[in-house]
Amino acid sequence: MTDIQIEGAGTMKAGKILCLLRSYKAHAEEMGNTPSKKPDFFIKPSTSIIFNDENIIIPSASKEVHHEVELAVLIGKRGKDIPASQAMQYVRGYGILIDVTARDIQSRAKKMGKPWAIAKGFDTFAPVSDFVLKERIEDPHDLEIWLRVNGEIRQRSNTSKLLFKIPEIIEFISSKMTLEPGDIIATGTPEGVSEILPGDVVEAWIDDIGMLRVGVE
Ligand code: MG
Repeated sequence: MTDIQIEGAGTMKAGKILCLLRSYKAHAEEMGNTPSKKPDFFIKPSTSIIFNDENIIIPSASKEVHHEVELAVLIGKRGKDIPASQAMQYVRGYGILIDVTARDIQSRAKKMGKPWAIAKGFDTFAPVSDFVLKERIEDPHDLEIWLRVNGEIRQRSNTSKLLFKIPEIIEFISSKMTLEPGDIIATGTPEGVSEILPGDVVEAWIDDIGMLRVGVE
């Protein structure tokens, strides 16, 4: 069982992780992709989750593992077909998630039209921070988002550049599958993704939310 920590508000058992793709224009372009026109997503298993001060383990199956820093939305209430106008009632809080990706495995899967589950779903491939209650965040669509490796800034953007607002994302996902308490929506990464190697220290933070620091082995 994997318990998400919520500052000052206990814990929640983590559910499924729903990850958006191509939701920042500059990242879609750096990967040679067209930005999504609707909130496309895939699922990572909750067994990928690790926490502050733990290590991402590079699997022997991959020779190129990348970091992707993302704003994470924690769902607090079960819902299906949630209209955007009510979507924020289903949000419990916000955190930071690093969508760790075996880029070589993903590239092969893309070429062959195969799913991304393996490239995205290895154990340790979803480091998450402690979460803060949504009431603490005035505007989740205007937060600086950063990631550095060994002290060097690799990603820096702002959630204002997200192509989809959180209510729209929740409306879309919940039109396809039921959202449950403890589910996490990873809203996609801005540009600057790059390789991580054993021995690296990865630090990600989002202003007003907090910091996430993990090693690599
Ligand atoms: Mg991602």
